[in-house]
Amino acid sequence: VTQVEPLNTDPLASCLQAVFGYRTFRQGQREVIDQVFLGHDALVIMPTGGGKSLCYQLPALLFSGLTVVVSPLISLMKDQVDSLKQMGVAAAYLNSSQSREASQQIFQQMHRGELKLLYVSPERLLMDSFVERMQALHISLFAIDEAHCISQWGHDFRPEYAALGRLRQLFAHVPIMALTATADQATRQDICQRLGINPYVLLTSFDRPNIRYTVAEKLNAANQLRQFIQAQNGNSGIIYCGSRRRVDEVAERLRLQGYKADGYHAGKTQEERGDIQERFLKDQLDIVVATVAFGMGINKSNVRFVVHYDIPKSVEAYYQETGRAGRDGLDAEALMLFDPADIGRVRHLIEQAEPGPQQQVEFHKLNTMAAFAEAQTCRRQVLLHYFDESASEPCGNCDICLDPPKRYDGVEDAQKVLSCIFRLQQKFGINHLIEVLRGSKSAGVVDRGHDKLSTWGIGKDKSHEFWLSIIRQIIHLGFASQDITRGSSIKLNPQARAVLKGELPLLLAEPRITLTTDVKRRGN
Ligand code: ADP
Ligand code: ZN
Repeated sequence: VTQVEPLNTDPLASCLQAVFGYRTFRQGQREVIDQVFLGHDALVIMPTGGGKSLCYQLPALLFSGLTVVVSPLISLMKDQVDSLKQMGVAAAYLNSSQSREASQQIFQQMHRGELKLLYVSPERLLMDSFVERMQALHISLFAIDEAHCISQWGHDFRPEYAALGRLRQLFAHVPIMALTATADQATRQDICQRLGINPYVLLTSFDRPNIRYTVAEKLNAANQLRQFIQAQNGNSGIIYCGSRRRVDEVAERLRLQGYKADGYHAGKTQEERGDIQERFLKDQLDIVVATVAFGMGINKSNVRFVVHYDIPKSVEAYYQETGRAGRDGLDAEALMLFDPADIGRVRHLIEQAEPGPQQQVEFHKLNTMAAFAEAQTCRRQVLLHYFDESASEPCGNCDICLDPPKRYDGVEDAQKVLSCIFRLQQKFGINHLIEVLRGSKSAGVVDRGHDKLSTWGIGKDKSHEFWLSIIRQIIHLGFASQDITRGSSIKLNPQARAVLKGELPLLLAEPRITLTTDVKRRGN
């Protein structure tokens, strides 16, 4: 460790400069670290590349005891520990790939108090023998990286993470810091609940202004992809597909077209996968066509584009996957090819699974993803809104902003929708709402007496899909919300008042007819 600058009297700033070589804290880092020193738990939500690691690495150096970092991937642990060692920090990792001698040596270092940071996998951490070992030591902090893995709401649930809920009971006085790059409201709550923490929450902006979001209707996917990639001038990119078969097929086609492309999925050996990842990092491979198996731990800063050839499983997954583009801060493209019929297919797959809460979660995720793809609103506004971040202005860097759909004065239509939600006492979902608006005489409507409501049939001159699009826009714009804890019923937000009273001008996008076929299928 280099010498601490004598002029700097702030120990945190000194350490930041002396050990890590940074002059200033990034947004949020200082706040989290201060809270940790007060002994509080923390939930740190920062986009990838935002600087989460420092939030526990720096305190670890100043604490007298050991900081234990839980991390899901061996490759991630190794990278972090290697770079810490380079900075002269006493760090180590324990995982199943190590020899007995290697782990014995680390245990000795631990017991002699020589280690500042220890990275472990969750299953390793909770082995009885290891818990006993830790209880004999002075542990200063538990840091749980990729904390969304604990939640079934997150995009990467890992059963081994679920057991981390025991930490609080086993180590009642050791603060816990949970860190993640993507966590919507439901995931955040779930993380805290499962870990038994009531933490200080740090939430930095999720906006990635250099990424241009485009959703294009999937017409002739092969041609569309070809055109898009031609325009990329040989830059690096990732193409996500929904199945292994599709991955192989697309990769093969790109190779035939002369691109340095390869396919990555869980059907390949560990060796093959490692090789692809390495060639991609070293710029020997331009395009990786992949399933979601290609993801966490990919630290390539100059990925210029990410294509979704098929619809992603959730908005979180979409955000995470597109987020691998443009980490260097330079312009990057995120293109999604959207075939509304894909939603029906994924829906069907989910229907095959065992009924239960997990299935409901999957349905909800898919619906939200579909709503994003079909949105007529600035993509970035929808994304940020999804993460409970408000963006009042359209971004100017997405397909909707750059090639806006036609707008019309939507006050009257919005009033019909909002007043119908009100008449339904905010207790029903989108489909029922549309049935009532369109004057349906289905049993579900008549049996509840909803055919007697004043709003029954006020929208019968328009199609189901028209209202679906309008309702989704109203939700995207924040006038109403879907309450997932109550069967996706729609409730009014305070802003709806001004629309209902006619005090707010409202431009809505004319629904695009192309969505019709899918919606019909879904209605059945
Ligand atoms: P995350 O885990 O949030 O994806 P990392 O912790 O890996 O992000 O940090 C991303 C990059 O930002 C790393 O290269 C790291 O060295 C750098 N970084 C972190 N904090 C600072 C800081 N205060 N000043 C400058 N660079 C920083
Ligand atoms: Zn936009």
